[in-house]
Amino acid sequence: MRPDYALFQPESCLPGIMRCRVKGCGELFQTGPSLRSLIASLKAQGKTLRHLPPPEIEQTRRRQHAEAHVRRCEATLDQRTGFFLLAEHLRWQPKRLTAADHGF
Ligand SMILES: [Zn+2]
Repeated sequence: MRPDYALFQPESCLPGIMRCRVKGCGELFQTGPSLRSLIASLKAQGKTLRHLPPPEIEQTRRRQHAEAHVRRCEATLDQRTGFFLLAEHLRWQPKRLTAADHGF
């Protein structure tokens, strides 16, 4: 199961697309299964594939992207699950209501 603070989260309105959650980044990646099915369907239609990265290349791009965030202390690699996680100080915190929110 995907951890709560996974660095990449599925983009809800784009099936097969993962978005990097580092603030200000938001890089998009296509998942392997999604690319493979797209490639299969294009091949079946006899269309050219040269604009599509092979799934392995896309996977490598995503890993290298995550590793770059780790080097900048924006992400960590969870050795136990193999998931890249958003660094703790970048995790979304529920907004705490203050008096100002109530008009004081
Ligand atoms: Zn990123």
